[in-house]
This record gives sequence, structure tokens and C-alpha cells, in this order.
Amino acid sequence: MSNALVWFYNDLRLADNPALVNAIESGKPVIPIFIWDENDSDLHTGGAAKWWLHQSLDRLSNRIEELGSKLIFRSGTPKTIIQEMVDDYDVSSVYLNRRFEPHIIERDNDILEGIEHEISNGNLLFDPEDIMTKQEKRYTVFTPFWKNCKMQTEPHEPFAVPTEIPAPSEFPDSLELDEMKLLPKIKWYTTFEKKWRPGEEEAKRILIHFLKSEARKYGKQRNIPGIRGTSRLSPYLRFGEISPNTIWHESKPYDNPGTEHFVREVGWREFGYHLMANFPFLANRALRENFEDFPWRDSEEDYTAWTKGMTGYPIVDAGMRELYATGWMHNRVRMIVASFLVKHLLIDWKKGERWFFDTLVDGDFCSNNAGWQWTAGCGADAAPYYRIFNPILQGKKFDTAARYVRKWVPEIADIPNESIHAPWELSEAQLQSYGVTLGKTYPEPIVNHEFARKRALETFDTIAPKK
Ligand SMILES: Cc1cc2nc3c(=O)[nH]c(=O)nc-3n(C[C@H](O)[C@H](O)[C@H](O)COP(=O)(O)OP(=O)(O)OC[C@H]3O[C@@H](n4cnc5c(N)ncnc54)[C@H](O)[C@@H]3O)c2cc1C
Repeated sequence: MSNALVWFYNDLRLADNPALVNAIESGKPVIPIFIWDENDSDLHTGGAAKWWLHQSLDRLSNRIEELGSKLIFRSGTPKTIIQEMVDDYDVSSVYLNRRFEPHIIERDNDILEGIEHEISNGNLLFDPEDIMTKQEKRYTVFTPFWKNCKMQTEPHEPFAVPTEIPAPSEFPDSLELDEMKLLPKIKWYTTFEKKWRPGEEEAKRILIHFLKSEARKYGKQRNIPGIRGTSRLSPYLRFGEISPNTIWHESKPYDNPGTEHFVREVGWREFGYHLMANFPFLANRALRENFEDFPWRDSEEDYTAWTKGMTGYPIVDAGMRELYATGWMHNRVRMIVASFLVKHLLIDWKKGERWFFDTLVDGDFCSNNAGWQWTAGCGADAAPYYRIFNPILQGKKFDTAARYVRKWVPEIADIPNESIHAPWELSEAQLQSYGVTLGKTYPEPIVNHEFARKRALETFDTIAPKK
């Protein structure tokens, strides 16, 4: 009998995996495969995410073995490898979950042409084409988009983990996981190991724990970076270790506003994918065309200070250091640091997008792009260009007790709460009493807030549509 191939990609789980379910239901023996494509990696998997991917594949491969099968690892051009499976291993059909990155869709269409295949929606609650306005147009504003989603037929109940994956008479050759060389040579990821446990079992555990404990307080706590007020499920969703359907259905019994708000945020992820599916050009440019002519500043010095968390603005520096140390950053702080790069420093949002992509364990092509375009004011439903986050007020409002800043910027930890978000306002003598010398132990602000705000407004005005 011929074989069915399950081509894993961003769906590294056994539970609620429609591609896997459909392959098993075909009645054929199943070959599970993961293909590492170095060319794709440049665009789609940053350094931190590669660490995650390695761990995630390790877990998935063990679980697949427990079900009597084997996850085949290959590295190279997917077209050649899939063709080899068809020619040499009697693969007659390929099963995969739908992908949304424009160049991957193009690549897959080319690979699968002439090969029997079935593509399922495994990673979104709704197919983007199903969510249209009454005028058959695509949504570019979140609230009506989400309202429409909620009127659709409910996402299906998650599929159970299969009890067995029928094995082929012969498995194709496979690389060892290490041979795909996903882990960087320099072990800068050791700090990640302390924070994260990738894998679908952990994803489910986190979800259930979150729903039972913090979710009901989500509305109040989600903006406070110094506490654990959000789920931290983003890297698990990024690699498909948990499906949004699972989140949807597991959340249902918890009928409270906090949990509803949490599911709505999963809707923002959905919105990012919806935008990319409908406007594939977003991969390379802003939704608002006038941003193409924006006179970005080209300051390597300022950019480096931002990446290293050395801008002199404590909340910005805390965020950038959290990102580098853990591969993750709180959503409120993502907005603050992104706004700082784009508006205070006038550095192209695409540079920030790239840096996030390299350093986030949840670096997701659609959500990251949407987040940056939103902050820059050039995307869908975006923050207006004249909305410039004030990093001092944001710090005071959302990190009032300064737990977050003290954790990530310990060199200013002795400054009292009321001054810690703007240390330069203290006298030299006061600073000294807290063990701080600006410009030596902690940087002076790299740009004055009022000056930066005025400069940003004037510069953004040059591209604002004329009334
Ligand atoms: C500039 C910028 C870049 C971003 N880049 C990414 C990225 O690369 N990958 C990524 O997953 N998220 C990104 N986000 C969105 C958001 O910051 C993270 O999803 C969130 O911080 C993850 O934490 P959590 O899992 O605790 O979220 P929770 O608050 O627990 O939310 C649950 C899930 O909903 C989704 N979600 C929540 N908020 C958003 C949002 N604003 N946009 C899209 N999805 C959301 C995530 O999948 C998240 O895991 C970005 C936001 C900004 C402003």
C-alpha cells in the first residue's frame, strides 16, 4: 500500500492536528516529516526561535515514537525532499496544515503541484476568506473583524491525540535532530533554558493553570509587566504546540470578562494572519503607502543603544534586556519600545521588526509585522501617528511599583519609585546617594523626550495625507 506523508511545519503537536488526523484516516501508513529549509530560516525563524524549534522537535519526535512511529528530519530544499518521498518511499498523498507566509504559500504551491495533497486549517480559528464585510471586503479594523468572527460557525472541538500512527514498511533515512544545526554555536540561550519548557504538554498545562488562576483578572493585570498577568503562551502558539481551537474550547467553561478578554487577544493573532492572507504585500511594505517615502534616520549608534537596552529610559531598557535574556517581552513593553524606536529615534520600523524576529522565541511573521505596523502607525487599525508613547508616563502608570525596571535594570534599583522612571530629574547628589552616576553606571537619555516628540510630529506631518 502507498504511504501518506504528514509534513509538519508550524504545527508541532499531536493534539488537534487536522493534517495528522486526515492522514491517519486515509487508512495508509503514515510518514511524519519535518524539513529544515535554511533559505526559509533567514526570513522566518530567528536565532531565539531556532532554539525553541530544536526543543519542540525533540519533544514531538519522542511523542511520535511513543505512538509507534518516527519523525523524519531532513534538511535542504523542500521541493527535492518531497519529490524524493514520492519517488523513493511510495508517498501518494501529502497532508499539511495551512501556512500563511506569502512566500511559503508560493513555494508550497510549486512543490505540491501534481502531487495529491490536502491542506487543513490547523492554526487559526477561522479561515481568513470566511471573514468578509457585508460589501465582500476585507477587514482592516479589529473590532468589527472580531465581531464577525464570533458570528461564524464555532471552531470545531479539538481532535484528540491519536492512539497510534500506522508505520510504513520502511522509514526514509533521517538526520539526527542535532544534525539540523538549529542550536547556535555560542550558547547564549542558556538563560532561556531556565525560563521555558517547550512542547505541547507544557502548553496545555500552562493554559489550564492560567484559566484556573489568572485569566479572570486578565483585564486588570495584562498591562502590568512586573507581574505574571498574561498567559505567556505566545511561543507555543507560534510553533503550533497548542491550537487556538484548544484555547477557544478550554476557555468556554470560564464565563467571566477576564477570560473573554484573553480569548479576544487570541483574536488579535487571528487578525494579523487575516491581514497577511488578504494583503500579502505587507510582508515587504507598510499597509499605508505614504510610509514608503518616510525620511527615516539612519543612526547605527541609536539603534545599537536600543538593542542593548542602553537608551537611558528605564522602561525601554528593561524591555530590551528582558527580550535578550528570555526571548520574550511583555506586550505593553513591546508597544513602548517599538514606539520609542520609530517615534523617538525615527528609525525604520522594519529594522525593529527584524531585531524582534531574531530575538523573540515567539517571533511570528504575521503577528510581529502587524505589531510593528500598528505601533508605527502605518498598519491596519493602527495607533495614529501623533500618538507617541511617553516612556516616562508609561513607566509610572504600568510599572508603578517599579518591579519590572528593578529586575531588568538593577544598576538603578535603589532609586525610589517616584523617580526611577526618570532618573535624570534627580540632582547629582541624590543620584550619588543611590549609587548612580549618569553616563557612567547608567546612560543619560540618548534623546530628550520633548525634543523627540516634537521632531516626530513634524516628521510624520510631512507624510500625513493632506486634507
Ligand atoms: C511590536 C510588536 C511585535 C509583536 N510581535 C509578536 C510576535 O512576533 N509574535 C507574537 O506572538 N506576538 C507578537 N506581538 C503581540 C503580543 O505582544 C504577544 O503576542 C504577547 O505579548 C504574548 O504574550 P502572552 O502569550 O502572554 O499573551 P496573552 O496576553 O496571554 O495573549 C494570548 C495570546 O494571544 C495572542 N496575542 C495577544 N496579544 C496579541 C497582539 N497584540 N497581537 C497578536 N497576537 C496577540 C498571542 O498569541 C498570545 O499568546 C507583538 C506586539 C507588538 C506591539
